Amino acid sequence: MNDVKEQIEHLRRVLERLNYHYYVLNAPAAEDREYDTLMAELTVLEAAHPEFADPNSPTRRVGSDLTREFEAVRHRYAMLSLANTYSEEEVREFVARIEREAQKPTDYCCELKFDGTAISLTYEEGRFVRAVTRGDGTVGDDVSANVRTIRSIPMTLQDEGWPAYMEVRGEIYMPHESFDRLNAERADIGEEPFANPRNAAAGTLKQQNPVVVAQRGLEAVLYAVQADAPVAPSHYETLQKLKSWGFKTSSAVRLCRSVEEIMEYIHYWDTERHKLPYETDGAVIKVDDTYLQRDLGATAKAPRWAVAYKFKAEQAATRLVSIDFQVGRTGAITPVANLEPVRLAGTTVKRASLHNAEQIELLDIRVGDMVLVEKGGEIIPKIVGVDLSQRPAASESFRYITHCPECGTALVKEADEVKHYCPNATGCPPQIVGRIVHFISRKAMNIDGLGDETVQLLYNKGMVHDVANLYDLRVEELVPLERQGQRSAEHLVESISRSREIPYARVLFAIGIRYVGETTAKKLAAAIPSIDALMSASREALLEVEEVGEKIADSILAYFADPRNRDIVERLRRAGVQLEAQQTEKLSAALAGKKIVISGTFEHHSRPELKELIERHSGTNQSSVSKTTDYLLAGSGIGPKKLETATKLGVRIISEAEFMSLISEGAEQEAEVLKIQQPTLF
Ligand code: NAD
Repeated sequence: MNDVKEQIEHLRRVLERLNYHYYVLNAPAAEDREYDTLMAELTVLEAAHPEFADPNSPTRRVGSDLTREFEAVRHRYAMLSLANTYSEEEVREFVARIEREAQKPTDYCCELKFDGTAISLTYEEGRFVRAVTRGDGTVGDDVSANVRTIRSIPMTLQDEGWPAYMEVRGEIYMPHESFDRLNAERADIGEEPFANPRNAAAGTLKQQNPVVVAQRGLEAVLYAVQADAPVAPSHYETLQKLKSWGFKTSSAVRLCRSVEEIMEYIHYWDTERHKLPYETDGAVIKVDDTYLQRDLGATAKAPRWAVAYKFKAEQAATRLVSIDFQVGRTGAITPVANLEPVRLAGTTVKRASLHNAEQIELLDIRVGDMVLVEKGGEIIPKIVGVDLSQRPAASESFRYITHCPECGTALVKEADEVKHYCPNATGCPPQIVGRIVHFISRKAMNIDGLGDETVQLLYNKGMVHDVANLYDLRVEELVPLERQGQRSAEHLVESISRSREIPYARVLFAIGIRYVGETTAKKLAAAIPSIDALMSASREALLEVEEVGEKIADSILAYFADPRNRDIVERLRRAGVQLEAQQTEKLSAALAGKKIVISGTFEHHSRPELKELIERHSGTNQSSVSKTTDYLLAGSGIGPKKLETATKLGVRIISEAEFMSLISEGAEQEAEVLKIQQPTLF
């Protein structure tokens, strides 16, 4: 008996740990299928042994995404999960149970299960009030400032007939296109990519800076309304109402009148889903009659009137031929599996991602193994398992490389990182070429006429060995190169020359300091407006800058500590590249020297708008209150911690109205200009 108790407790502990990685860190530590199997195992054991029941068991609770960084808000109506199954038989049993309880055949509304993160949008009198995550189902995190950046979410409703108070429920997700772009950007600055679009959406929603959220291309789809009384007699009509009020709803909804029709819907989308521009991991089957839904009720974890049928991720078995190692521009090493070609989800797969050494070790992947390849939300499929029964007798554990495959330097791995790095930043060819490619990219110096291959060629010929050399290139030395005619060589030199006009913030992004992405570069340039000031900034000064944490501060210090990088900066200076921020964009000096922290939500401006106003009136945004803070700009629902610290440190707390008068006092005329130039700010 004790064995069972131990087993139950063990499973609860494991599932809780997996929940934490998944919901809070947004970095799953296991495959979903594995998690679902453990959960099913625990459910069976608990059902057989009611004496060990515990209301806190993961089988009875909604997995919680609560964090301490956001204000916690109580849902007026509980926000539950969904019962799920991978078995068609269980869907049939679900339908049979419903019809038994309803004592009549009933309709079902079938929808796609969007693979994102659940959201609850509160509307009062037709106006958006707040957006709250599912949290633990009872209390969620207020992420309104972030959700406001999703343009398809209406702030004011259209049409009429909405309840005076309602919570509209739906999913925030990241389309494939945004996901691939985000992960490419993360890899580019040396950040670990998100495991899948769902984790990326959830992680983005928990960002502290709405400007970053706005850039990441989140989408929302709404599929339910909670109010004191149903808004329509059927779920299907509820969706129509949502649409008429201005919400984005799914077009893949089908009203099914029998279990056969439900199966048709499931089978159709099981194959068609691969053509969708977003990730869906299943179909949700819901009782259509809203009054019957109410009668059927819910368990502590999920409604009894709905079930999610989860699609099995498409897998294929094939042989692992070899493992290659790629070196990125930041020196990060990525192992890539070469496979015997195999058909998977409509494409032929030859390569798969292996992510890092830990993953290879965890799965004990060996060259020669038959491996299982799966296609999730990402372009490159991944290896999720090994078929041990087919392992060749002579196989040996895979030994991860210890030296850079490109330059032979011994690899390093920091304790809190999963990846190995080649530290030879200035001597390792793919890192040098990668940095130049990054430097010329559209978001950086926007030098066109120079593709990756030409950069490689220029490097191979010894004409360019760092980004500063680009400015020495002359038309006559480019013309003899392969694929370069007189015209294209002239165009290239001209484009390089034009890049001298690129503003400092983008130059800072372009030089490729690890972890300094576009947004961080902008924040740095606004707070520390010249490269000279940045090079001599102390760690403390760097940490004061919004968005800059210890990891980024240390990376900036390390970059400028290297004399080779300082030399590049000097040569860029001589070439005439912008190494100082232009002051002309400022609208006034009303907030010059003032450091301001914003917290809460505001009546007339969104947080990004206020931040921009601070910068444009020469103030500095800070993310947390410290003794250097001049003002705490407080809105409704201000973080209690910030308020407490500000009061303790004697920081002046100002309202939105006071802030507006502050900037207009010294800058009445300039504010008028801003109104005309930036109508969206007012
Ligand atoms: P879920 O994602 O399986 O289903 C419930 C959610 O589906 C709802 O909260 C809602 O957000 C969403 N949803 C999408 N489309 C919907 C629609 N049309 N109608 C209604 N709801 C819709 O459940 P969950 O509780 O969010 O997460 C549990 C699942 O997450 C597990 O089954 C597992 O697969 C995964 N998980 C994995 C790990 C791991 O370590 N890999 C850890 C925890 C959870």
